[in-house]
Amino acid sequence: MITVTCRYCDSPTIITNGRTKSGQQQDHGTACLFSGTLDTKEEARKEKEHLVEKLHHERVSQRGIARMTGFNRKTVVTLVKKSRSHQAARQKDPSFARKADY
Ligand SMILES: [Zn+2]
Repeated sequence: MITVTCRYCDSPTIITNGRTKSGQQQDHGTACLFSGTLDTKEEARKEKEHLVEKLHHERVSQRGIARMTGFNRKTVVTLVKKSRSHQAARQKDPSFARKADY
């Protein structure tokens, strides 16, 4: 039997509490009064952000990246800027030298 536990207190006393606008199951923890979804989309977003960095490295256009990932183009611009500043920090720091992980 699969027991679903609360995201915050790991208590198994959870009841379903309808759906979100996007159709995700919402739950209500009766022990800590938590209310919301148990599985967040955080992991999927992190993966997509990494994909943006990779596509930018392959010189895909910002609009192309936006079409492929489903992000807004402004979000793509922000992520690319973020990855650029990360690369700049990497080049200054000698511990990152000669470490190709892309
Ligand atoms: Zn809880």
